[in-house]
Amino acid sequence: MQLDEVLHKEKLTRDEIIFLLKLKDENDMRKLIKRADEVRKKYSGDEVYLRGIIEFSNYCSENCLYCGLRNDNANIKRYRMQPEEIIETAKQISNLGIYTIVLQSGEDYYYDTDLIAYIIYSIKQHSNCAVTLSLGERGFDEYRIWKLAGADRYLLKHETANQKLYSIYHNHQMVGGRIRHLKFLKSLGYQIGSGNIIGLPMQTEEDIADDILLCDELDLDMAVFGPFIPAPFTPYQNRRTGSIKLTLKTMAVARIVLKNVHIPATTALATIDEAGRIKGLTSGANVIMPDFTPLQYRENYEIYPNRNTLKEEPNNVKTLLTLQLESIGRKISSERGDSLKLYFGSDRILHYPY
Ligand code: SAM
Ligand code: SF4
Repeated sequence: MQLDEVLHKEKLTRDEIIFLLKLKDENDMRKLIKRADEVRKKYSGDEVYLRGIIEFSNYCSENCLYCGLRNDNANIKRYRMQPEEIIETAKQISNLGIYTIVLQSGEDYYYDTDLIAYIIYSIKQHSNCAVTLSLGERGFDEYRIWKLAGADRYLLKHETANQKLYSIYHNHQMVGGRIRHLKFLKSLGYQIGSGNIIGLPMQTEEDIADDILLCDELDLDMAVFGPFIPAPFTPYQNRRTGSIKLTLKTMAVARIVLKNVHIPATTALATIDEAGRIKGLTSGANVIMPDFTPLQYRENYEIYPNRNTLKEEPNNVKTLLTLQLESIGRKISSERGDSLKLYFGSDRILHYPY
């Protein structure tokens, strides 16, 4: 296969995606990254969109084998933020000029339909920010009510498109079930985000190619690819950390295949490599999700250890990011960063495809 030809194709086959993911030569890697950067610039420009994340509860009823928040882990200190505290934190984020609030938690039914609706509605009263929910799999009627309350987006990673692996990681559940949730969310008008974890035990490059193809099929608004980091007190605590190289390759290939999609440089990437954010942003990414969870809770949201955000002061984050971005000729966007699929060409005319 000719690398230059594949990199410039409009539509890539599964074999071509696998070919790119298996590139080893440093020179070839550079070509891949350069092409992804061009595609990112064409479809999203040089601005970087910020999403302020509030991890409001680390209780979880699920038992994903890789995650430190899993229900069976009795070794982390559990916490729940009160609704008014969540709403106040969201206000602080939008006062900093960050216009997407991501509400994330384990699957925690303490926050019932009405309570989540109240939080969304209250946040939307105070500012024109977008609200993204990342609460795991919840009821279809709940999704509907939260949309009516003002939620704009839902982030639910499929984690792996390989049914055999999905069922191993998730207590015999079916990846088809998760896909149904994503499709339903999209049909309600949510902008949807999904994606995988790179380097989970038993995963191959072929699996990652299928993950990218699934992201394409789902017509995602945001696609997330973060490295696996082993978490203590989980069945995978002694497994190997996901490779930074493979993560960056995946992000670059995803950018070339998916084109007009948001791709974040994840916290996990910044955790396994100090320069991870910048490397991600130059490999196709156009989004950063800084952590605004109040510091007293943050260390207990231990999906995996030593998250790089543990010491980031909410008030300094934007200044720090501005400096980092300047070094690569990029800058923070002052917009909400809605789906790149809501606009046509450079006129950016609003077009709702739902
Ligand atoms: N409970 C919600 C869910 O699962 O969608 C949201 C919170 S969950 C902690 C957010 C994401 O963390 C998951 O989608 C998963 O991809 C990621 N994650 C969990 N454990 C991880 C690990 N050990 N390494 C890297 N990412 C991990
Ligand atoms: Fe719970 Fe989400 Fe972690 Fe799975 S990934 S154990 S659903 S917090």
